[in-house]
Amino acid sequence: MEERKGRRIIMFPLPFTGHFNPMIELAGIFHHRGFSITIIHTSFNLPDLSRHPHFTFQTITHIKEGEEDPLSQSETSSGKDLVVLIGLLKQCYAEPFRQSLAAEVGVGGETVCCLVSDALWGRSTEVVAQEIGVHRLVLRTGAAVSFCVYTAFPLLMDKGYLPIQDSRLDELVTELPPLKVKDLPVTVMKEPEDLYRLLNDMLEGARLSSGVIWNTFEDLERVSLLDCNSKLQVPFFPIGPFHKYSDDLPPKTKNKDDDEITDWLNKQEPQSVVYASFGSLAAIDEKEFIEIALGLKNSKRPFLWVVRQCMVRGTEWLESLPYGFLENIGQTGKIVKWVNQLEVLAHPAVGAFWTHCGWNSTLESICEGVPMICTPCFSDQHLNARYIADVWRVGMVLERSKMERKEIEKVITSVMMEKGDGLRERCLKLKERANFSLSKDGSSSKYLDKLVSHVLSFDS
Ligand code: UDP
Repeated sequence: MEERKGRRIIMFPLPFTGHFNPMIELAGIFHHRGFSITIIHTSFNLPDLSRHPHFTFQTITHIKEGEEDPLSQSETSSGKDLVVLIGLLKQCYAEPFRQSLAAEVGVGGETVCCLVSDALWGRSTEVVAQEIGVHRLVLRTGAAVSFCVYTAFPLLMDKGYLPIQDSRLDELVTELPPLKVKDLPVTVMKEPEDLYRLLNDMLEGARLSSGVIWNTFEDLERVSLLDCNSKLQVPFFPIGPFHKYSDDLPPKTKNKDDDEITDWLNKQEPQSVVYASFGSLAAIDEKEFIEIALGLKNSKRPFLWVVRQCMVRGTEWLESLPYGFLENIGQTGKIVKWVNQLEVLAHPAVGAFWTHCGWNSTLESICEGVPMICTPCFSDQHLNARYIADVWRVGMVLERSKMERKEIEKVITSVMMEKGDGLRERCLKLKERANFSLSKDGSSSKYLDKLVSHVLSFDS
């Protein structure tokens, strides 16, 4: 680890797993380069801070004494819920964030080099950073391609693709091939004005920043990165995949359940297990849950399935499984509430990842060379799925509307039986390219050096 005493970076993640994880990984990367790290975190969705002893946390709260918690009823099971919730978070935390940043910068001792805020916090964090006199970088936790699509919204409106009409869902967006209308990240919303506002604010916030850090690598998204860069005109740093800087990241603490899952995986044949998980937010209804259960069972392959508490709408956990399901599957299937996904994907027993195509899950799967079955649920997941299947060609799509037991069995068999026309080989090649980007001569390593110099140049 490099020594860089007296230099501090302040980070402000959005409080959701898919945003917090890459921010904390980035914190680890900066920490390894000798910076001290302070993380300003909302009291909403506060993570277990004891897992991150290398960093200083400042918790900010939005609850005013004697007033009702405006976030208490918020849900996040669909794209629309999420947009509304992020809007509320931005409102509630604007002032607590301003006060916390001002206090941190005013502390003295170490020089605060910059703020790194999640892109979705938008313009207001830039206004605060300017007022306090600190440079601000933006972390974009999604793919570059989704960002490009957001920048193209005005064009898509001009051309009549947006708002989406149901009759055009299967049409190719000729300006953004190979995306189809149904891949655009607004499909579940009939009234997307709140979303347009949120994205516009994110884009403006990025344009005004001192640079954008991307959790992606150049070889994967060269064209999209160039496109974003030409639109933003700020320095850009694609230094991903963050989670593979394993030497730089503080070790993760393990719990008993992780050991149990590893023991179970150790007993399975190489590349035999279907790992199914829809990330940290997506919810499904009971009918879908039953089809998934029966599809997995009928595929006759061992499976590891993450069903989060309350992920199935209207139920606590597994109570709507078909009668006798767990007894019938015995040791061939394992249902758990959460896994250490990085470890699971890296395990040699895992042969396919049935995923909702959140960007972190996508990158994590690419890095382990695991073929994907893509069932996107909302927002950018649809276009990630299109790129996985049609551009990088490391997975197959199983649309949510077709998620029925027979179809599930069919797609699992195709992926596991290598009917995917060299699918596994392509996955391994892409894994190698991801690894190369992090090697000494790789693009991500070079961009990281540039990023560190850029950050240090702020106080000279
Ligand atoms: N994750 C995990 N265990 C689980 C499910 C998810 O560790 O059982 C992690 C996963 O590794 C990823 C994150 O949660 O880093 C989910 O982020 P993603 O962008 O894939 O989806 P989101 O949850 O934002 O929809």
